[in-house]
Amino acid sequence: MSKSKSLFENAKRVIPSGVNSPVRFFKPYPFFVKKAKGSKIWDEDGNQYIDYCTGYGAMLLGHRNSKVISSVVRQLKIGTMYGAPTDLEVELAILIRRAYPSMQKIRLVNTGSEATMTAIRLARGFTKKKKIIKFEGCYHGAHESMLVRAGSGSAGIPVSDGIPDDFIKNTIVLEYNNYEKLENVIKKNDDIAGVIVEPVLCNMGLILPNNDFLMNMRKITRREGIPLIFDEIITGFRMSYGGAQEKFGIKPDITTLGKSLSNGFVISAVGGKNEIMEQLSPNGNVYEASTFAGNPISTRAAIASLHTMYSLKNKIYPKLAKQCLSLTKSIRESATKYGIEHQVNTISSMFQIFFTDKPVTDYTSSKLADGKKFHKLFSGLLNEGIFIAPSQFETGFLSYAHTDSDLEKTMHSYDYALRQIRT
Ligand SMILES: *Cc1c(COP(=O)(O)O)cnc(C)c1O
Repeated sequence: MSKSKSLFENAKRVIPSGVNSPVRFFKPYPFFVKKAKGSKIWDEDGNQYIDYCTGYGAMLLGHRNSKVISSVVRQLKIGTMYGAPTDLEVELAILIRRAYPSMQKIRLVNTGSEATMTAIRLARGFTKKKKIIKFEGCYHGAHESMLVRAGSGSAGIPVSDGIPDDFIKNTIVLEYNNYEKLENVIKKNDDIAGVIVEPVLCNMGLILPNNDFLMNMRKITRREGIPLIFDEIITGFRMSYGGAQEKFGIKPDITTLGKSLSNGFVISAVGGKNEIMEQLSPNGNVYEASTFAGNPISTRAAIASLHTMYSLKNKIYPKLAKQCLSLTKSIRESATKYGIEHQVNTISSMFQIFFTDKPVTDYTSSKLADGKKFHKLFSGLLNEGIFIAPSQFETGFLSYAHTDSDLEKTMHSYDYALRQIRT
């Protein structure tokens, strides 16, 4: 029996379903990780994989980036947790604001879920209104008002058990990429506290926004005085250093960041317009607090990450885009060669394949894709030493550590795995 299999059997005795986050499970059992470096990850059985899960997009610089690690090691020697402010937090806030000018003031939190939870509370506190508009398939973390027709691991669950109807009635769920519906709902409803969106939908597979979807959304929310929240937890520092808002030239009122912000440490951020952020306690009446917020380890990791990504940004983003373009071109060619119906969506360093002949532009079209074929692809790739996230409703991510020879091997592996799907 493989070591991963026996570790998984043990895990199930003490951890529900054997995993600490549902997307990590796959059939027959997940591999257990021993270590990672650069673009590679190794399991407990000694197998090596080229990693395109990259911590669900967090490891933009690759595993164990030397600048990030050495900065954290230095900090470990002088203190890990104070419960009192440090100048590091100020330094990080300034770095974030420089890249995201829409974030005039910034609070550091720990997880993405905390960041979006705070963003929504802020929007409600600021407007004194109740209803939040979200879009089908967008994932904004595992908290009450957002677990409604969400993506990622919850893509098959319309509403999680354990959430009273009272929460859900204040969440309005609309189709992604359907601006007309958004406009209608906003016109008919005067109790909208905010609109939250993934500017590129990365939790339903990868889905790109239509040309005018975000632009029109910005126009109408500005006109109606409704705070627009960009959840850039994946796209931040990944689509470009300044995220999707820089790439698309749109200024949201509130932004959430996480994942690539620290390249593998626990930290997230929520920020926005002064008058909105000033609602936060202790001066304001919107309460938000956390024991580990802005802890020096994660904050150091984020500062080192931002310095590294900023100084290399003219190399990182063009290189990733170029590599991703050639990878997806090759995947399309293989799928076409074997006569497999497919869609490949891609932007910057992100990509996903769907087994369907219809364009994938929203939750419904993503759900129409053949999930069994996707699982076959996943297993085939894993056998070949390629690790992508084990679900159709996640996205593939490149890191700066991926080499051209990693890419070449990956193209061969996709070709091989796709050939198995045909037969
Ligand atoms: C991952 C993710 C979250 C949740 O972040 P956690 O750190 O897992 O709580 C929220 N929004 C988006 C867009 C994400 O991809």
